[in-house]
Amino acid sequence: MAKQQQSSPQQPSHTIVLIPGDGIGPEVTAAAKRVLEASGVRIEWVELPAGASAIDLGFDNVLPERTLAAVRAHKVALKGPVTTPVGKGFKSVNVQLRQKLNLYAAVRPVRSLPGIRTRYENVDMVIVRENTEGLYSGIENEVVPGVVTSLKVASEVACSRIARYAFRYATKRKRKKLTVFHKANIMKLTDGLFLSCARKVAEEDYPNIEYEEVIIDAGCMKLVQDPTKLDVLLMENLYGDLVSDLCAGLVGGLGVVPGSNIGDDAAVFEAVHGSAPDIAGKGVANPLAVIMSGVMMLNHIGETKPATKIRTAYDAVLAEAKPETLTRDLGGTATTEQFADSVIGKMG
Ligand code: NAD
Repeated sequence: MAKQQQSSPQQPSHTIVLIPGDGIGPEVTAAAKRVLEASGVRIEWVELPAGASAIDLGFDNVLPERTLAAVRAHKVALKGPVTTPVGKGFKSVNVQLRQKLNLYAAVRPVRSLPGIRTRYENVDMVIVRENTEGLYSGIENEVVPGVVTSLKVASEVACSRIARYAFRYATKRKRKKLTVFHKANIMKLTDGLFLSCARKVAEEDYPNIEYEEVIIDAGCMKLVQDPTKLDVLLMENLYGDLVSDLCAGLVGGLGVVPGSNIGDDAAVFEAVHGSAPDIAGKGVANPLAVIMSGVMMLNHIGETKPATKIRTAYDAVLAEAKPETLTRDLGGTATTEQFADSVIGKMG
């Protein structure tokens, strides 16, 4: 195992909540934790459960109040994926967490990585997804037996807030273009409001950013024809969920796309992927997406040097493209831990 780097005693320590989650969550978050610590940053972890594992530990909710309170108090969390039962059971942990902490912006950078060969090169996009409403509001009703409805919510406050966030982000990161994916031709009120809020912010405050509106079905075609033509993508909750996985497929899969859920008072960093029950417990999951989410987290808390150090290290491991240091999803044979060791080894 690669040796861990000593941090200097004067360096301030950060308190960060670690939620290992379910399925591959504990494996990939443990690997990511080792990589983060090896970068020299000082972190005091507060480890708490969420998901099916919280129920197994005797909590009465998939999102225990203690976990929620810790994220509120410490403001930053690194989270593994959680399992959400299909069609029954508790309200999704992710939806609860995002709504209760008002983590209104999901930010998911999708870029081509060195050594990972896909159909496309030079992909460099960022998906900004509204994270608190839309069809994920969880308001469903049985009108009469055999007829059910799901309410799609759009509020001017949330639509304008996410639009302002996306333009601010694009400007700060020196991005050139922002494209809204929508279906306002059909959902004239909800997607219509999302669109008009984005257009207003574009026209009034951001002449520096090229602004474009694309109906989402055509947008998906554009994405698979030539993703290099897209830059920052802004969309509502459900579309952002689907398009994130589609975009992951363009650059090497779910093992390589990180994410963050940002609010004004807290931020939760997590990969786009789920708990991958098909490979859980086998030690073969790719921890890179969680490591990358950890890098986003370090940048968020101002630890840019260790963040760059980790990014340079995993780019170097990927660029070498040695089967023995890459996980199975990337065509290699390495275990989760071996990949983490290789990254740590590159940090010197
Ligand atoms: P998934 O993302 O877990 O897996 C899809 C496919 O990608 C699987 O074949 C899996 O093996 C592979 N995969 C995912 N992550 C990988 C990694 N790090 N390394 C290698 N391969 C990886 O999606 P799913 O199977 O549809 O969902 C499983 C569970 O995860 C569901 O309960 C779902 O609700 C939940 N989920 C949680 C989150 C989250 O907590 N943020 C996100 C998405 C899905």
